[in-house]
Amino acid sequence: MIKIQNYINGQLAPALSGGWLDNYEPGTGQVYSHIPDSDASDVQAAVDAAEAAFPTWSSCGVNERYRILHRIADLIEERLEVFAQAESRDSGKAITTARSVDIPRAQANIRFFATAILHFGAESHHMEGQAVNYTLRQPIGTVGCISPWNLPLYLFTWKIAPALATGNCVVAKPSEMTPMTAFLLAQTCIEAGLPAGVLNIVHGLGPKAGQAIVEHPKTKAISFTGGTATGRTLARTAAPMFKKLSLELGGKNPNVIFADCNFEEAVSTTVRSSFANNGQICLCGSRIYVERKIYDKFKDELVRRTKALKTGNPADPENDLGALVSEQHRAKVMGYLDIAKQEGGTILCGGEIIKPSAELSGGYYLTPAVIEGLPNDCRTNQEEIFGPVVTIQPFDTEEEALALANGTQYGLACTLWTQDISRATRMAERLQAGIVWVNCWMLRDLRTPFGGVKNSGVGREGGTEALRFFTEVKNVCVSY
Ligand code: NDP
Repeated sequence: MIKIQNYINGQLAPALSGGWLDNYEPGTGQVYSHIPDSDASDVQAAVDAAEAAFPTWSSCGVNERYRILHRIADLIEERLEVFAQAESRDSGKAITTARSVDIPRAQANIRFFATAILHFGAESHHMEGQAVNYTLRQPIGTVGCISPWNLPLYLFTWKIAPALATGNCVVAKPSEMTPMTAFLLAQTCIEAGLPAGVLNIVHGLGPKAGQAIVEHPKTKAISFTGGTATGRTLARTAAPMFKKLSLELGGKNPNVIFADCNFEEAVSTTVRSSFANNGQICLCGSRIYVERKIYDKFKDELVRRTKALKTGNPADPENDLGALVSEQHRAKVMGYLDIAKQEGGTILCGGEIIKPSAELSGGYYLTPAVIEGLPNDCRTNQEEIFGPVVTIQPFDTEEEALALANGTQYGLACTLWTQDISRATRMAERLQAGIVWVNCWMLRDLRTPFGGVKNSGVGREGGTEALRFFTEVKNVCVSY
């Protein structure tokens, strides 16, 4: 049985309390490793280590930080297969997703921010004949990074890399459900020569270890990705302490498909945007709105292709979908299928529990579902399900599509399918979302701002936005 360790002050160690938590393998439903059940004392040790490392790390210069971060990215790239297997086993995601999305993106995140810091400038404002102002962007100190289980290493590195590149020291917590690749990352950091205390990884439960990171007076900024309810709890603690907060929260993303779309691209991408990673990506489109003229044709094709998706052993590269992350999560997703039926919806396909083999009979498998016949204001269309479940609805006009798309508390991403560039531009302007994709989905340029509006979050990650978040601004005015 693997025993995952905390990474504090450059050392791998169990929780100070000696407590352990079970870590389940979603594909089998069996416990396959243990993780430290860390508490405030472990977080205190991590903060002490970070504070001690900060003076050297923050002043060693961007070239040195670039060099070490690049080395870490190189090592992840060299071990892509080891990381991918670990990610798939730990989260239940299909191995092809871990190989082609999660791990390549994790190393790309680190490489991107290692390089970005070399080009990060600050402003200067000249008061002619009088003074010059220049702006310093200085590291904050010790910062907290908390990430969810759906894209474990991908989202963990998305936060840690800009925090470290800008010269901060980090106390980070991955989700207790998917700790394995963060553990591998810790081993990789040691090998890459990351100085002790610069990055500290504390494993454990959100309300215990996570809360202790947020509550600690020395974590001056918190970057969090997770559910909206957790984000609210975090903000309640952090806001009165005047911490910098970046909150990337839930979504209920619409796909708006007009009759003049490229049908083949729209339908094939919609299958992907609905069910990639078992629908457990914050950017997945879960409400599909189709112009009535092509509604039946689109629906039939979507259902046909959804039925053709293979759900089963995450380790088998033939499978499109693996297992959901946990038993509780599958129960939650299935609860929404019941709600959809009570609300008058028709399940056109999927939503069935499967047992791929005797060995995998305890795994958390669920076939992808498409639901029709629900109004926009029902719970199924309003609440985040975060699983392989989408709804489909017709619309007649652009105005109606806009109202449907904007008609939830969330505003993370939206996908538009049309060949009419004027309509796309008009719609993009009025959509309440942080990200609008036109005729594509998940096409990511790491330089672009990433984040949501309304209850999908506060602040932006990505590119310069992340470098700005993880730095404190100081204006210096020099009179001459
Ligand atoms: P949670 O909000 O349950 O957890 C996220 C992280 O916060 C986990 O590490 C969790 O630990 C920790 N946590 C829980 N409670 C606290 C607390 N009181 N204080 C500090 N930390 C805490 O989200 P999930 O892990 O279930 O992730 C799914 C959610 O994430 C979905 O809502 C999804 O939309 C959202 N998400 C948003 C993205 C975005 O960019 N906007 C991207 C990806 C996901 P533990 O796991 O141990 O409970």
